[in-house]
Amino acid sequence: MEQHIDNIDFSRKSREIHDIIRLSDFKRLQDLCLNLEDSVAFVLKGFENKHREPCLELFIEGKLDLICQRCSEKLEHKIFLKSGFLIKEETQLTDFQVDDHADYDLIESNAKMNVLSLIEDEIILSLPVAPKHENDRCHYKKTDDMLDRIHPFADLKQKLYKN
Ligand SMILES: [Zn+2]
Repeated sequence: MEQHIDNIDFSRKSREIHDIIRLSDFKRLQDLCLNLEDSVAFVLKGFENKHREPCLELFIEGKLDLICQRCSEKLEHKIFLKSGFLIKEETQLTDFQVDDHADYDLIESNAKMNVLSLIEDEIILSLPVAPKHENDRCHYKKTDDMLDRIHPFADLKQKLYKN
């Protein structure tokens, strides 16, 4: 797969790439996932919108094993993402109409845009800040020790008014 594209040329020529990428190829995602053998599938499409501006659409689908922030066990997380990008060319800076592109993120024109980085950015942005199992599926169990810490001042009143 080509890792770098000229994003304007790619859009103007309505090109498309699709591939499957191992999580081990994403440097930043590696720290957030348990199973680096997992992979995500993506499709990147270039096209021109009705104003003849260069755009990209990115679809990502896959499954990641995140780490539950409550019990530290595996948490399966499915992703199904669709993102749109409008490529900002130098000449467009003045007559740009934001309203036309509410759903699209602006990105810079780039003759060597890194496709993997774009995909990784989108996945990371979509992830929950603190992933957690549903309550009844979490492996977290309160121990007596923890219960003591939750109510450390339970008998404070008695102590205060003892005298
Ligand atoms: Zn959990």
